[in-house]
Amino acid sequence: MAVTGDYDHLVKLLLLGDSAVGKSSLLMRFCESKFDANFVLTIGVDFKWKQVERENRKLKIQVWDTAGQERFRTITPAYYRAAMGVVICYDITDKASFEHIDYWLQQLEQHGDEGVQRVLVGNKSDLSENRKVTREEGEKLAAQYSMKFFETSAKTGQEVDEAFLSIADEVVKQRYSDVQ
Ligand code: GDP
Ligand code: MG
Repeated sequence: MAVTGDYDHLVKLLLLGDSAVGKSSLLMRFCESKFDANFVLTIGVDFKWKQVERENRKLKIQVWDTAGQERFRTITPAYYRAAMGVVICYDITDKASFEHIDYWLQQLEQHGDEGVQRVLVGNKSDLSENRKVTREEGEKLAAQYSMKFFETSAKTGQEVDEAFLSIADEVVKQRYSDVQ
């Protein structure tokens, strides 16, 4: 059995996006495989982590969450520091959250380290009856900024692992050149 703390690479990821798009819920789903609408509201953690094995390497994926300060657009530059990959999120039922992706990309450009990996995530795919942003719109925006794109549901778990693991793989590929 793997000893806790025994890993080959540490992958530090950040969550970014408007308030209420489901960032904390995605963190809970990925790291703890659960969804709890009530619990998430009071969550006060800085980060959670999950250990996975990819291509025979043990990755410790650390995912940082905002503490709700994005509601006031007062995320401090320190939040971005040392991030290797960023999961930029919107809510498919909230057009404004999609239109604000440009804002979050600008913030990342301004405060993030050079060469930070990014992935675009349209969350709440289980609420397709309330959809306000089409998959094509998401894909188009992602392509424009050379990002991979996923539509996820923190509620059902759909595509959540895929999104986080895809960016973790990109980080490993970028930082450890012996990986193909
Ligand atoms: P944050 O402010 O971006 O961290 O968003 P939260 O994780 O706090 O989620 C905001 C609200 O959206 C909460 O009521 C969540 O239960 C709900 N939510 C988050 N993700 C999903 C999802 O994938 N599907 C549905 N139906 N609700 C979600
Ligand atoms: Mg949150």
